[in-house]
Amino acid sequence: MNRTATYWNTTPLEQLSAEEWESLCDGCGKCCLHKLQDEEADEVFYTRVACRLLDMKSGSCSDYVHRFSRVPDCMDVRKMTSAEMKWLPASCAYRLRAQSKPLPEWHPLISGHVSTGFKDPYRIRGRIVSETDVPEADLEDYIIRWIDA
Ligand code: SF4
Repeated sequence: MNRTATYWNTTPLEQLSAEEWESLCDGCGKCCLHKLQDEEADEVFYTRVACRLLDMKSGSCSDYVHRFSRVPDCMDVRKMTSAEMKWLPASCAYRLRAQSKPLPEWHPLISGHVSTGFKDPYRIRGRIVSETDVPEADLEDYIIRWIDA
């Protein structure tokens, strides 16, 4: 299949190959954080509580291949509806492309730099705790507003 050099901004998400799809993820790790939803206000709140499988140093899933069997409520981004995409941070390439918006200049596919999303000073590294250390009833105490989420 022929692609333009900027396939990430021109090819609809559903037409991306598996490799192209994976390349859109900048590795920020924010989709692996617990979120709370205010259904009345239709608002999503991020917490700084991470899935037990999130590697706190790299920001990657420590068992990506088996994540759905190990964590039954892990959401498959590829199967998300556009409404469910609002659970992703505003900076996420999948959310941006689902809204027909271009990727930002800092995105690894454009800047050419290896993804540093997880290590960026405004990102989540060093600010998160594992769900194994937080009772579910206490999640509200960990609500946080990210700069771009
Ligand atoms: S929020 Fe988006 S860019 Fe960040 S890790 Fe998840 S899928 Fe990748």
